[in-house]
Amino acid sequence: MTPAIEQAIATSPFTALGLPAAIVRAVLEEEYTQPSPVQDEVIPRALEGRDVLAGAQTGTGKTAAFVLPILAKLTSADRPAGSLSPGIRALILTPTRELASQIADRVAAYGRHLRIRHAVIYGGVSQQRQEIALRAGPDLIVATPGRLLDLMQQRLVRLDTVTHFVLDEADRMLDMGFVHDVRRIVATLPAARQTLFFSATIAPQIETLARTMLANAARVSITPTVTTAESVDQSVVFVDKADKRAMLERILNEAKATGQDGDVARTLVFTRTKHGANRLSEQLDRAGIGSAAIHGNKTQGARERALEAFRRGTTRVLVATDVAARGIDVEGISLVVNFDLPNVAESYVHRIGRTGRAGATGKAISFCDREERTFLADIERLIRKRLPVSGGDPRPATAAAAPAPSLNGPAPRRQGGSSFRGGGGARYR
Ligand code: AMP
Repeated sequence: MTPAIEQAIATSPFTALGLPAAIVRAVLEEEYTQPSPVQDEVIPRALEGRDVLAGAQTGTGKTAAFVLPILAKLTSADRPAGSLSPGIRALILTPTRELASQIADRVAAYGRHLRIRHAVIYGGVSQQRQEIALRAGPDLIVATPGRLLDLMQQRLVRLDTVTHFVLDEADRMLDMGFVHDVRRIVATLPAARQTLFFSATIAPQIETLARTMLANAARVSITPTVTTAESVDQSVVFVDKADKRAMLERILNEAKATGQDGDVARTLVFTRTKHGANRLSEQLDRAGIGSAAIHGNKTQGARERALEAFRRGTTRVLVATDVAARGIDVEGISLVVNFDLPNVAESYVHRIGRTGRAGATGKAISFCDREERTFLADIERLIRKRLPVSGGDPRPATAAAAPAPSLNGPAPRRQGGSSFRGGGGARYR
């Protein structure tokens, strides 16, 4: 190691969080200079050995928030002395194959200067290679619940040596009906272990699930900062429910006709229900606008095919529900359309955070029918500003003119702090 690298490691804020040099080195090689808020909050607590309940969605840097401290734990004195094959010491459970391979890829990257073996386990592919990887004696496994249970039942994997457990995307586990599988797996883990529990939202059902798995957990909640929205050109259109579809088609077709098709090259449309997503996608197809719907009812294969077509640009429009959209990591979404306004204001921030990433500017158009005006008011209170109106504003003049009340809105978590997903600039740097 050159003195310059040693110096960079010594002064890195990741070192200040308590991470060992070999891990900080890998993080610097990834060109991360600042920990994200969720990393700032979770890493020191996890290194202390505490359980953590974290509310953080994809895009906040949550993967490193659990992978980094676990790698640190696995390399430290935790290892049973003299044991050559101490068994699987860390388990990361995640709902989809896509996420499992992304996490495994991160484990390889952050662990490149460590001698830690990992294996990744998911369904939909032959189990043979996974068996070979298991026989090699991994220290850490990343798995989806169904295949892991299969392998456990075949006695190809044992979890009684696990000291560190991560449940990733707990809310999607619930949504996709995996919660029984998860409970069965957790029941086989030693009681004396550390658990890091991650979920995009902490709804009451999630609290209940978390209580069965965590002991005296530190709670961390990262809401995307409200300033996220500033690199996104936002507007609202008041429109009757029945006219929404025609309005959407017009927006998509007009941008094309006026040569502004960059604006709509990758459009993500949000509906409130799965049924609504399917219906809208079919209607767009009939109108000659290639689209795909993506939601929890689709098979993993169908979801991946739809996403791949969207990434490649063969499908211009993806219609999604909030839950389905969480797993989507597609760069370069140029337009987000809220076909239905979300009834939970925070979802608005999550949705529009899908565009305007990495310093790019994006656009977000929200349709608001008469029944959705209270949702709009909630959103404006949360983001502490009025959304510019495109077309007429049917709201009573006083309500439309008055600035959004800010007293009841939650305070932004970090004012002037890290620029992670922060306003205007790059996402992290
Ligand atoms: P995640 O929320 O875990 O899906 O992470 C989203 C993206 O952020 C991934 O591409 C990571 O490589 C990247 N990332 C995570 N932490 C940092 C950081 N501290 N600085 C820069 N990029 C990061």
